[in-house]
Amino acid sequence: MAQILAPSMQWQMRMPKYSNIASPMTTKMWSSLLMKQNKKGTNRSSAKFRVLALKSEDSTVNRLEDLLNLDITPYTDKIIAEYIWIGGTGIDMRSKSKPVEHPSELPKWNYDGSSTGQAPGEDSEVILYPQAIFKDPFRGGNNILVICDTYTPAGEPIPTNKRHRAAEIFSNSKVSAEVPWFGIEQEYTLLQQNVKWPLGWPVGAYPGPQGPYYCGAGADKSFGRDIADAHYKACLYAGINISGTNGEVMPGQWEYQVGPSVGIDAGDHIWCSRYLLERITEQAGVVLSLDPKPIEGDWNGAGCHTNYSTKSMREEGGYETIKKAILNLSLRHKEHISAYGEGNERRLTGKHETASIDSFSWGVANRGCSIRVGRETEKQGKGYLEDRRPASNMDPYVVTSLLAETTILWEPTLEAEALAAQKLALNV
Ligand code: ADP
Ligand code: MN
Ligand code: MN
Ligand code: MN
Repeated sequence: MAQILAPSMQWQMRMPKYSNIASPMTTKMWSSLLMKQNKKGTNRSSAKFRVLALKSEDSTVNRLEDLLNLDITPYTDKIIAEYIWIGGTGIDMRSKSKPVEHPSELPKWNYDGSSTGQAPGEDSEVILYPQAIFKDPFRGGNNILVICDTYTPAGEPIPTNKRHRAAEIFSNSKVSAEVPWFGIEQEYTLLQQNVKWPLGWPVGAYPGPQGPYYCGAGADKSFGRDIADAHYKACLYAGINISGTNGEVMPGQWEYQVGPSVGIDAGDHIWCSRYLLERITEQAGVVLSLDPKPIEGDWNGAGCHTNYSTKSMREEGGYETIKKAILNLSLRHKEHISAYGEGNERRLTGKHETASIDSFSWGVANRGCSIRVGRETEKQGKGYLEDRRPASNMDPYVVTSLLAETTILWEPTLEAEALAAQKLALNV
């Protein structure tokens, strides 16, 4: 049973004028649709719209869609802003909408933090600060999506607000002078809604082993392409710096890349792209999982490889800076691992194109290392590095700012540096 909004009598009379209605309603159909006439004594004007039930097997009028597509610009100068923020788990996304005058005049707003696990009931207000604006591909027009971060009423960032600290690091003059670029490869898994088992997999059983699925095509190899493609277009429309998509090694798993983006933008763009993916999978009746190892056993996990470079790395002789960055990263392996996503120990096993979580390694073109340097970067003597450790559910604000901090701001002792250089065969 689908629900439709039935118009007042006045509207019903005008119905046939609407050319996009597939089959005009007969009087008989209407009388079967109208559940109840106005009870006597009710105010006529309060019953302009009634929600009615309708069987929609034979493509009856989908008037909800008409309403969703209504052009409201002739009637209001306001636009709809969807305020988006990160909830209490640090990975769930929440949003609510309000009309605003103009994108340049976005007010702060608040929400009930006790309902998102972010504030106690007796002092529940969390304040949303608008930080980044994207176009809204769902509402279209001039409507917008607004990525926000979250504060107490006293103006302190709440614990799940990782953007605040990241923005501080990226505005450090030493960091901004290095114009840090990030290219993030977001992997994700699509699950069947009711059984929470990957899309395309037989329920309660497994598909054939991995091999034919990566970048594959065909009904027995590619599951969920419409979602990946719809998401790609939605990102482009929104203004997200998306740079590609591909089907992954595990069937039902996909990847898209965002970047290179500079500094804090990388985090804003990834979070907005994740929000779009939640909305699109919601519409498709498919569940999005960012679990780093959704299926145990001989199945690839899901990561969020973070490709990174600084100005010095991109310039002539940049390979020396890349090696020094790898050296610093090796000395802070534990700190990075603890900030790279929940459950990552299930993924970083040393198998399935990962390095073991317990040891740091690097290599040229080696996908079994913590850090991979591309052949092209080695050949050119400049370029970027790929940190393969972050999990699909990592917070991009945390990962990008920590990379910048460790490689631009942090300095090891000379002794530690010498030891690490020897161990990793890095002569810097
Ligand atoms: P992989 O071969 O690991 O699958 P992808 O092609 O999926 O690599 O992703 C590589 C990412 O690296 C892209 O998002 C790309 O924009 C990004 N990238 C390219 N050059 C740089 C650079 N100099 N600094 C940071 N990121 C970069
Ligand atoms: Mn990739
Ligand atoms: Mn991948
Ligand atoms: Mn990669």
